[in-house]
Amino acid sequence: MAQQVFAYIIHKDGVPDDTALELIAAAEKLDPDASVTAVVAGDGNELDSVCNEVASSCAEVWKIENPALAYITAEALRPLLVSILPKDGIVLVPHDHFGMDLAPGLSIKLDAAYLPDAVDFEGFDNGELKAVREEYSGQVSTHVLSDISEGAVITVRPGSFKADERKRGEGQIIDKTDQAIEGSLPAGARRFLEIIEAEVGDVDITKSDILVSVGRGIEDQDNMEIIFELAEAMGGDVSCSRPIVDAKWLEKSRQVGTSGQTVKPKVYMALGISGAFQHVGGLKGTPFVIAINKNPRAPIFQVADVGIVDDILDFIPELTERINELKSG
Ligand SMILES: Cc1cc2nc3c(=O)[nH]c(=O)nc-3n(C[C@H](O)[C@H](O)[C@H](O)COP(=O)(O)OP(=O)(O)OC[C@H]3O[C@@H](n4cnc5c(N)ncnc54)[C@H](O)[C@@H]3O)c2cc1C
Repeated sequence: MAQQVFAYIIHKDGVPDDTALELIAAAEKLDPDASVTAVVAGDGNELDSVCNEVASSCAEVWKIENPALAYITAEALRPLLVSILPKDGIVLVPHDHFGMDLAPGLSIKLDAAYLPDAVDFEGFDNGELKAVREEYSGQVSTHVLSDISEGAVITVRPGSFKADERKRGEGQIIDKTDQAIEGSLPAGARRFLEIIEAEVGDVDITKSDILVSVGRGIEDQDNMEIIFELAEAMGGDVSCSRPIVDAKWLEKSRQVGTSGQTVKPKVYMALGISGAFQHVGGLKGTPFVIAINKNPRAPIFQVADVGIVDDILDFIPELTERINELKSG
């Protein structure tokens, strides 16, 4: 494959997102011979620190600086990317809210294939890329063949490729600002107004080292007590999946996931949580994941360091008792 592979870098406050190194790892899995080009767009001084940071992990960094990108929207960014990317390039974008907004329209404008939500690449079959996707909340893996010879925009699920921290020398930073031409924004296009920070509840789970996280498997609000008892025994905080918030058993600030909080604990216990990607997408860093679920095929076991197949309603009270015994004895 002689095509250039690009990784679009999400960043905030001058720091590349965790997906940056994941996309570079994904690009190298897609094409082991690729020299990956990172694309960093935005406005202000912090852009240079993002470029410098990713430069050591890839061959080139293309920088686009534009006041319209002070807060990046897909509509503002797309025409700039279209004006600099080669027609047959392979563009990797994280499969998050922003990537899902950006990628389909970008593929149309580049006249390139669109492959959403890839979790792995398994080489080529008769010249077509063989990508792996997960369906039905990760219960089923599917193989998708795509002809990417004339370019492709691929969204890559966050967390599915292990971030590769290897330094590969100092990538050259190329300023593409002058070549990146703005298109006219469509009438009624979205405009950025302000950032409203999510409310912090009684516990800030983004700061917790140990999270005891509960899902729909807890079955009843009356059973929630056993989760708090385990968290106390472990010296951790309680977090949850979205159905627990929807049921109003815990406040929104304790929800882990793509529409909840992003957490970076050292230990993460997933209790009666299936492991939907919207939930696992909120787990960052390299936590030690302990999953307890009565379904041995639950997708959470794919990301677990320790997996226990059992009923949490039986297992957790016994575990709490044992921990308390060990602590007192
Ligand atoms: C746009 C969007 C954004 C979303 N954002 C989020 C988000 O931020 N966070 C989030 O969590 N979800 C989010 N979701 C929802 C997500 O898709 C899943 O529906 C949700 O994560 C499932 O929660 P769960 O694992 O608790 O429940 P379920 O998927 O119902 O899983 C329950 C699990 O418990 C197990 N179980 C049942 N009883 C027991 C028992 N007694 N003992 C042990 N195991 C048991 C079952 O085997 C099952 O695996 C989002 C969805 C959408 C569409």
